[in-house]
Amino acid sequence: QLHNTIQELKGNIRVFCRVRPLLGKETIGNDGIITHMNFPDTDGKILEMDKIGDATLNESTLLNSTRGASKYEFNFDKVFDPTSTQASVFEEISQLVQSALDGYNVCIFAYGQTGSGKTYTMEGGGLEEEKSMGMIPRAVQQIFATGSQLQEKGWQYEFLASMLEIYNETIHDLLSERQDIKHEVKMKGKDTSDVYVTNLTTVPVKQESEVLNLLKQASHNRAVAETKCNERSSRSHSVFQLHLTGNNTITGEALQGTLNLVDLAGSERLKESGSEGQRLKETLSINKSLSNLGNVIMALGRQESHVPYRNSKLTYLLQNSLGGNSKTLMFVNINPREEYFNESLNSLRFATKVN
Ligand code: ADP
Ligand code: MG
Repeated sequence: QLHNTIQELKGNIRVFCRVRPLLGKETIGNDGIITHMNFPDTDGKILEMDKIGDATLNESTLLNSTRGASKYEFNFDKVFDPTSTQASVFEEISQLVQSALDGYNVCIFAYGQTGSGKTYTMEGGGLEEEKSMGMIPRAVQQIFATGSQLQEKGWQYEFLASMLEIYNETIHDLLSERQDIKHEVKMKGKDTSDVYVTNLTTVPVKQESEVLNLLKQASHNRAVAETKCNERSSRSHSVFQLHLTGNNTITGEALQGTLNLVDLAGSERLKESGSEGQRLKETLSINKSLSNLGNVIMALGRQESHVPYRNSKLTYLLQNSLGGNSKTLMFVNINPREEYFNESLNSLRFATKVN
């Protein structure tokens, strides 16, 4: 009961935390030093983190490490420990995803430093492998399946997919090979919250395999851009959008919904001092857009009258999917290695701020 009330007060904003496991050679020797983390409650809503790390090499130690001197505790709507599977994570978001079919605009973000598991969570560990499939393919799978079940009740859905990247406050179409076309966020008519991106490729899709092909195409186009600019994908936001239009042939009802899945730029603190030119510009634009996203979500949570959507491309682009009749979920992804303790702390604090 109480929890529901809090959810309502929070205006449909939820924050989930996911700690990834150590991988391959990360588990060996000094590389295996991890931050002490506890997942103490059976509801899976609390993460405890400890400043003192000692060489604890395996997952069971990670789960059961003892408390040390400076303990931090964070509360989330859900905490996923390193053993959690993609399927178990999806289970917790499937209702949210489903609500797009009822005409809601849904935004799901992955926030965290580079290497913390954002892309793994969103896209998956390899598109071919079923078990490691991320939230995007699982979400579309479910949307298409439920959409066709609803046909019995008269619903006819149409789906349009697009995929873009925001790099240095500039929008790039990930479904187009052409890099010379300009894309702007524009208002649709007089309705101030209704925005669209000019010249953006939108592809009608009917089944999951078509979306998987689009993801592959996007990742190819991203790789091409990356050869021209190192580490670009960790310095840009990537946005997958699925627009739904539903018409009920029996009742005459009509609705529209949008599902936005956003793999954010790496949140690691980038030093402004020492960086110059292009790098400094990137740093400033990432810092600005991530902190603006935090400000927008906070303003929505507090039901403030002014929400600073226009302060960055990302929030401007997503403004009709943030606030109002929409649902927002943020994953904060955590790399458990001790050397990233401070980054993890920063991410958890950011996430608590918006929670
Ligand atoms: P980011 O997108 O935040 O930079 P990635 O998603 O690329 O991070 O993750 C970094 C590495 O960790 C990748 O090799 C990824 O496959 C792996 N990884 C991340 N999360 C998990 C997980 N939950 N289980 C297994 N491997 C993971
Ligand atoms: Mg990534």
